[in-house]
Amino acid sequence: MSKKWTLPAIQEYIAKNSDSKLLSTEFKGFSQKLDFECACGAHFQKTWKKFKENKQQKCDVCQPPKESR
Ligand SMILES: [Zn+2]
Repeated sequence: MSKKWTLPAIQEYIAKNSDSKLLSTEFKGFSQKLDFECACGAHFQKTWKKFKENKQQKCDVCQPPKESR
């Protein structure tokens, strides 16, 4: 069930599903940190796994990390 993600596929997904932009120009896997630009203009890093599966699609200011309880 694992789709093979490529950089163009990721850019398309991000364009359709988020307000952020991808700054990274290469993709090496789910655990690689990618550079993004948030809609507010801030740059942030997330792994593709977190961005896609955990819906962490904004910078820490717009979408503060969940507090662990
Ligand atoms: Zn932001």
